[in-house]
Amino acid sequence: MKQKIKSTNSEDDTYINLKEKDLGEEVKFSISKDAFKGPFTCHGKKTVLANKKLSFNGIEHSYSVWRCKACKKEYLDSDEGKKLERLWIFKGLMEDKLITMERNMNYDGKTYFFRFPKEMSSNFHKGDTVDIKLLTPSGTRLLIEVKGNGKK
Ligand SMILES: [Zn+2]
Repeated sequence: MKQKIKSTNSEDDTYINLKEKDLGEEVKFSISKDAFKGPFTCHGKKTVLANKKLSFNGIEHSYSVWRCKACKKEYLDSDEGKKLERLWIFKGLMEDKLITMERNMNYDGKTYFFRFPKEMSSNFHKGDTVDIKLLTPSGTRLLIEVKGNGKK
């Protein structure tokens, strides 16, 4: 099983590749950060809507893509892309395969905080906000999303 998120140098697209044993084929699609709605244009023609299904551990997810008839490239609406991204995160959680890192918890006498590694924070900007989701009610397990809405 192969999973990778690859950011391209140009454009603002994030490419996510999923490879599933139980899927038998590689799923390749691009998600645009902008609120994109199909149909998209590829090879000078409008893409057509196609229904797809993805499953793992008995969980099925139906979604639709816009497919180019010429090159078979598939495009996702941003809504569908977000849903698929969530499923991908969930899958990683279920299989305990998310990239994990341990940081020291710091305390300045008032507040607890931790530092992000440089490799990550190079993508952060001053003024970015952080979205925190509690995975457990006690708040000891968190899902953190850095919203790139700060100054670039
Ligand atoms: Zn095409």
